[in-house]
Amino acid sequence: MTTTTRKSTNRLATLLLGASLLAGCTVSGIAETTAHAAGASNFLQENAAIRTITKNASGKTFVTNKLSTAVLVNKQRNLPSTYVPADLVVPNVPFSFAGSSPKKQMRGIAADALEKLFAAAKKDGIKLAAVSGYRSYATQKAIFDRNQAIKGADVANRTSALPGQSEHQTGLAMDISSASAGYALEASFGDTKEGKWLAKHAPEYGFIIRYGKGMEKLTGYSYEPWHVRYVGVYIAKEITNKHLTLEQYLAQYN
Ligand SMILES: [Zn+2]
Repeated sequence: MTTTTRKSTNRLATLLLGASLLAGCTVSGIAETTAHAAGASNFLQENAAIRTITKNASGKTFVTNKLSTAVLVNKQRNLPSTYVPADLVVPNVPFSFAGSSPKKQMRGIAADALEKLFAAAKKDGIKLAAVSGYRSYATQKAIFDRNQAIKGADVANRTSALPGQSEHQTGLAMDISSASAGYALEASFGDTKEGKWLAKHAPEYGFIIRYGKGMEKLTGYSYEPWHVRYVGVYIAKEITNKHLTLEQYLAQYN
């Protein structure tokens, strides 16, 4: 797969029912607030974990809402191996490496939000660097297999996803680091001023720290202060303010 430029992108993201409603809206007046709440509620009901899963003949579970910004992908919920988002673009933000790469990409709606997030950081004197975004099923398989060979199955399972179970395949996730952290994707990034800024401000732009500290039992993954996932401003603020995981948040609408 080749890296697409922003201009050539077909913004299919706008097809997401309810996503634009939830992303970055400003609500003024009671009527709008009511409409917003109703829209959010419908969107969340449609994306509830229990309503967005199906099993194939061999019992493997797949998500049915892979195009949704609220899609829940984890160790119990797979993306099809063939799924490639149709609206991948390269966000106009600083990266930790030069040259073109598929992993610079995100879906259009997430790329737009990432650009706003990075611009806000820059304004505050915080220099973030994007490290790794979209990852194909095949790339994820190579990463997991290598981790398993080097570190063993247990560590590989806690620190990397099986192919089909990575949020990076959704095109809605980006790993972020900073020069101060040596551009590393390590827990210590969370202690840097850049990591702290990211945790505080990511929700304002629709992102959550997907694998939070102390959430390992709920998410299945170690703390990853570098991994942000786009869910839209409304959901991101709810999840962050209530200290929930995406799993817990969506389960409320089952
Ligand atoms: Zn990640």
